[in-house]
Amino acid sequence: MKRFDYFLPQSLEEALELKKKIPNSRFIAGGTDLMVQIRGGELKPSALISLRSIPDLSSIEINGSIRIGAMTTVTDLIYNPDLEHQAKLLVDAARRVGSPQIRNVATVGGNLCNCSPCADLALSLLVLEAKARIQSLSGTQDVPLQKFFESPGKSCLSPDQILTDIFIEPVSSNTKSVFLKKGRVKMDLAVASVALLLEMEGEICRKARVAAGSVAPVPLRLQKVEVLLEGQALSPELADLAQRMASESVAPISDIRGTEEYRRQIVGVYVKRGLAQILGWGLV
Ligand SMILES: Cc1cc2nc3c(=O)[nH]c(=O)nc-3n(C[C@H](O)[C@H](O)[C@H](O)COP(=O)(O)OP(=O)(O)OC[C@H]3O[C@@H](n4cnc5c(N)ncnc54)[C@H](O)[C@@H]3O)c2cc1C
Repeated sequence: MKRFDYFLPQSLEEALELKKKIPNSRFIAGGTDLMVQIRGGELKPSALISLRSIPDLSSIEINGSIRIGAMTTVTDLIYNPDLEHQAKLLVDAARRVGSPQIRNVATVGGNLCNCSPCADLALSLLVLEAKARIQSLSGTQDVPLQKFFESPGKSCLSPDQILTDIFIEPVSSNTKSVFLKKGRVKMDLAVASVALLLEMEGEICRKARVAAGSVAPVPLRLQKVEVLLEGQALSPELADLAQRMASESVAPISDIRGTEEYRRQIVGVYVKRGLAQILGWGLV
């Protein structure tokens, strides 16, 4: 492994100045993705700039809307006493990330900025319609998460920008959600995954948000499925249609974790199973 310098800035401005000054430097959060890429020789940065000591990047604030600092660890998401009630889907996804050792250091910002199609938190945050706050030396901007992921490993961030916060609006009380993930073994990256959120008014689905992981170059919202469900009385027949549509809406590849066909099948089954779980139809 090539040697690199390591910096521990104490403010956002200091981190951004260092990034501007040092060519081929990288920001590091928990390092659970980045260090694997450096050890594998995919990346050879000249310096790592840690975001660990920057105040406020690690806090969660719930005050009407929810603000989650980019350096919040997966463990902190799980153990926050209020988040379970306000954004259950995110906590459910967090519980499925790696092992306790990984969850203790892996951050929400790292999960998004690594831009992996299988990122568990990315999927749930897409469905929760989160916004990402991005800062550079020239200012701050908020980007809907749907516009954040560009291609595998590539977000909309330019090298001189830091993701500082994620914002989520709390869901209404008639909202239910489910996160389903298929790995080869219990602790694994997803072969395929589905996050599903429904806002119901009696039998009628007022709002549906569906996203799938590991089945496209980026974490993917299944908007055709959402349109199919919204405004409808949800029935097992409609769930069959949603299953078929989900399988047809994705563009998976075959790799060591699973084949294209298998991934299509899992996504379809998980959309139907998610609907069945939320609506109490028993196991599908
Ligand atoms: C054994 C193992 C198991 C895993 N299991 C899972 C799993 O089940 N599910 C899952 O989703 N992931 C899994 N991962 C992947 C990884 O742990 C997560 O993606 C994690 O959230 C990454 O966060 P991090 O803080 O470690 O990011 P880092 O590795 O520090 O950073 C990742 C990338 O994001 C950039 N970056 C980080 N933070 C910022 C920021 N605030 N602003 C700008 N750029 C930033 C870095 O420069 C780097 O390019 C696993 C990894 C390992 C090693």
